[in-house]
Amino acid sequence: MDTQIKNETSVGTLPKYIMLADKTETEMIQNGAISTTCPKCGKKPKIWMTLKDKTFEVPDGDYFRDNAIFAQRIKIRCECGFIHSGEICL
Ligand SMILES: [Zn+2]
Repeated sequence: MDTQIKNETSVGTLPKYIMLADKTETEMIQNGAISTTCPKCGKKPKIWMTLKDKTFEVPDGDYFRDNAIFAQRIKIRCECGFIHSGEICL
């Protein structure tokens, strides 16, 4: 019972860096560009993709959309490291 309550409360309170990383990914898919900036370093986070054992920065939204399902890893991070997604396994 205690555990259940704890789990429910934690749902709406994702850490800010995760929410910003999610937003970055959504923007890239929907707009093909990122407008989110980091509240700490003021720079836009970047998205990296690991595809066929090579890791590189995602060039644009179309590329991201077309290749995200084949990616082994997707990583989102800003320069100072405040925004980061950890690793998303698709
Ligand atoms: Zn930053």
